[in-house]
Amino acid sequence: MTRVLLVTGASRGIGAEVARIAARSGWHVIVNYNTSADQASALVADIAAFGGTAEALHGNVADTRDVAAMFSMCRERHGRLDGLVNNAGILPEISRFEDIDPERWQRTFSVNTVGTFLCCREAVRLMSPRHGGQGGAIVNLSSMAAALGAANEFVDYGASKGAVESMTIGLSRELGPDGIRVNAVRPGLIDTEIHGSAGDQSRTQRLIHSVPLGRPGSAAEAGEAVVWLLSEAASYVTGSILSVSGGR
Ligand code: NAP
Repeated sequence: MTRVLLVTGASRGIGAEVARIAARSGWHVIVNYNTSADQASALVADIAAFGGTAEALHGNVADTRDVAAMFSMCRERHGRLDGLVNNAGILPEISRFEDIDPERWQRTFSVNTVGTFLCCREAVRLMSPRHGGQGGAIVNLSSMAAALGAANEFVDYGASKGAVESMTIGLSRELGPDGIRVNAVRPGLIDTEIHGSAGDQSRTQRLIHSVPLGRPGSAAEAGEAVVWLLSEAASYVTGSILSVSGGR
């Protein structure tokens, strides 16, 4: 039986690497995207080229109706869901706290936090034996910003990920008896396009002095940790927050 995995925000960056690595490990991967349809299709073709299986699926994780439609498709087409990676996320511009427009807090929390909550809620309804499912694994993408606070950069982003971590712990305890493991990965400075949206694509190099291993991480290095947490090799791991940060 092929295991089915939904990765949100998988059109590029860490999500795309999670999709590639999981497909190589035998998962059928649903590649969610919001605006980057071409990149999602290219990734699906890439996965097919090495013998994996994947499909692209549109949906804004911050939109309740989109999320419901994504999971309905999953139920109708596959009748099951074994893994969910809540990877979709946005990074706001670098700013001091007093200069932030409250509208931005709504945007950041609606994607990073509420988007994760919405997808977890739908996933439980597919995975839990209470609803006819067979258990599963959820991995949430947090950030070192949740622990470090992101002072002078984006305190609001750090808080949006802190909420994801608290929710990961609570949900792992609630869902353990249902055979659903819930964990989070806390990436540090990972080389992806996300830093451009903060207004500083050279951010990983600028902050390299804060990384004991002396370099930024790659999306694949973060992806490997995520796929390990999804796997049977992590069968006794739940409620854990795994830092993938080069020691930062
Ligand atoms: P990225 O390269 O900017 O990719 C973000 C992905 O999220 C894109 O595929 C984007 O798809 C998708 N996305 C954004 N908003 C969405 C929405 N509303 N609905 C569905 N998909 C959406 O980012 P990344 O660096 O790979 O980051 C992935 C995750 O890791 C994020 O949660 C981020 O906060 C976290 N993280 C990253 C770092 C880092 O240094 N890179 C560090 C700590 C944590 P579309 O283009 O289709 O919208």
